[in-house]
Amino acid sequence: MLHYRRAKEVIFFCPLRLLSQEKDVMDKYTVLKEVFGYTSFRQGQSELVESSLNGQDVLGIMPTGAGKSVCYQVPALLFRGISIIISPLISLMKDQVAALNQLGIHAAYINSSLTEGQFRKAMENAREGRYKIIYVAPERLMTDSFLAFIKCVDISMVAVDEAHCISQWGQDFRPSYLKIVDFINLLPSRPAIAAYTATATKAVKEDIICILGLREPTVVVTGYDRKNLYFSVKKPKDKMEELLSCLKRNKDRSGIIYCNTRKNVEEVYAALLMKGYSVSKYHAGLTDSERRQSQDDFIYDVKPVMVATNAFGMGIDKSNVRFVIRYNMPKDIESYYQEAGRAGRDGESAECILLYSGQDVKINEFLIEKQAENDELDESEREQLRQRDYERLRSMTFYGFTNECLRNYILQYFGEPGSNYCGNCENCLTESEDMDVTADAYTLIQLVKTSGERYGIQAVVDAVHGSDTAKVRQFRLNNNSFYGALKKRTLVRIRQILNHLLIKGYLRLTANEYPVLKVTSRGNAFILDENRQPFILKFPKEVEKKPTERKAGKKAVTEVRYPELFERLRQRRYELAQKSHVPPYIIFSDKTLKEMSTYLPGNRDEMMKINGVGNNKFEKYGEIFMAVIEEFVREHKIQIPPNQ
Ligand code: ADP
Ligand code: ZN
Repeated sequence: MLHYRRAKEVIFFCPLRLLSQEKDVMDKYTVLKEVFGYTSFRQGQSELVESSLNGQDVLGIMPTGAGKSVCYQVPALLFRGISIIISPLISLMKDQVAALNQLGIHAAYINSSLTEGQFRKAMENAREGRYKIIYVAPERLMTDSFLAFIKCVDISMVAVDEAHCISQWGQDFRPSYLKIVDFINLLPSRPAIAAYTATATKAVKEDIICILGLREPTVVVTGYDRKNLYFSVKKPKDKMEELLSCLKRNKDRSGIIYCNTRKNVEEVYAALLMKGYSVSKYHAGLTDSERRQSQDDFIYDVKPVMVATNAFGMGIDKSNVRFVIRYNMPKDIESYYQEAGRAGRDGESAECILLYSGQDVKINEFLIEKQAENDELDESEREQLRQRDYERLRSMTFYGFTNECLRNYILQYFGEPGSNYCGNCENCLTESEDMDVTADAYTLIQLVKTSGERYGIQAVVDAVHGSDTAKVRQFRLNNNSFYGALKKRTLVRIRQILNHLLIKGYLRLTANEYPVLKVTSRGNAFILDENRQPFILKFPKEVEKKPTERKAGKKAVTEVRYPELFERLRQRRYELAQKSHVPPYIIFSDKTLKEMSTYLPGNRDEMMKINGVGNNKFEKYGEIFMAVIEEFVREHKIQIPPNQ
């Protein structure tokens, strides 16, 4: 629903006179279309923009790729004064400023990467009112020169990006973020404050509001769901083979392969190089300049595939990442979702694949133990931390085993359960059949209970299966009345049922070096209840639907009518990017090129209807891309109906 209104007391300022000049008072919709080239606001954006424009404080909690920057950039362009955006990462600032420049907006960043001369120049320009938006690193806020600067300009808004960095509860606490409050207090008059983050735990949210001192903020939390991401778990015998098949499927596309250790990165990198792939690598063992080079090669699409440890990715804004493969399982769902979320920021379909192996669980357990040793905490705090980490690892491990919707599993973890069918994950798309395994579940719980809740998974599985192992004999499990009760089931099937008893909370594992199974209150209720609810599990039928049948979840995604044209446009974009030293996705996103390859715009009006084409982008690139389209249309003798 579009309704135009005059923004209260805000005057559009545009140094490059991008907008129709007769209109000097603009509204947020016009800015969105004419500057950014987008036809509508995404979920949450409109409300946040509106509140900021009304001078209210806001807190936006939105997942990666949801479009947080638009939320503060649109008001920033409409405000009378300057907007200060506080951001923790140099690379992020650089990227955002480059993107704004492409839109014809003068913006600057102030951080430690500037030389003294560059810094002075930026300040001089700022004082002359040449920037509407200034990105600042938190460490720079309280420097004398910056404080002197803010005294003589009008500041309309302070937006805090990655606002969770202010909280000690978050994973990325930055003490310099605490200075933001002092900074705001020093401003001649208090501007609107806007805080944005993708981290939504309650403690972090409260910290942001409280520490930043937000006044009755408009809080918008958009769902965690990223509909365009396809989730899949593979348990291959040979991970490399699986990886290669995924790369083949994603030929010439950009993606990230995450490994747990530097050694793994090196191995996978070398193997892919041997196979002729254009890959970069990134881990903490490389020098600064090697890392920078790798990162640039990846961002500029010179080498579209990146093999990295989790050191890579914070602040990587590359919008056309089409796949994120986890070569090793990470330590928790938080990390997994954050990394997976780097795929498909442009809203187009992308794959997130986890290659699971039991070995990864062991490595993560080892890391948890090691971390606990090194910590400077006291014994009980250490123990608490260990328990928490084991708990998180367990949830991650179960992700590898659930036969239910993978997306729903993740969303549920973040306290946001959706429907149990998303239509865009491997489990939803694998034909499965429901099986009633109530009796088997009962047997398993009973064996755990009657043997005194003292044994681990392996011993319990072997015992119900009736295996004659050394452990079974040692623990006298062969004397238990449930010994061998499931001998007709395969060991794999018993494990599956046991995993689901854990996932669904009928059993739990203790968090220590030798975890043992315990029966929870839910499990106890289950065995005692004569009319117990049936325990139904989904088991995959062996046939998986072909990827081309992945329809349901693809709704949000642009289909390309002329893929060959898309490739040509991509090539043209790459050449332009090389020439002007900007990442290709900053010129146009994949989504924009896909729309062009479908609708074949032939003039300015048609071009302006394409998502991502605003005034400035059209002036800069419109003719160039239309020429490619025109040539394609001519070559293929495509008849375009008028007013298509
Ligand atoms: P975040 O900071 O939340 O991770 P970004 O601000 O980087 O996300 O936005 C992600 C992508 O979505 C960018 O390519 C951006 O241009 C695009 N985008 C944002 N808002 C819109 C919108 N209203 N319509 C279309 N695309 C949008
Ligand atoms: Zn699903």
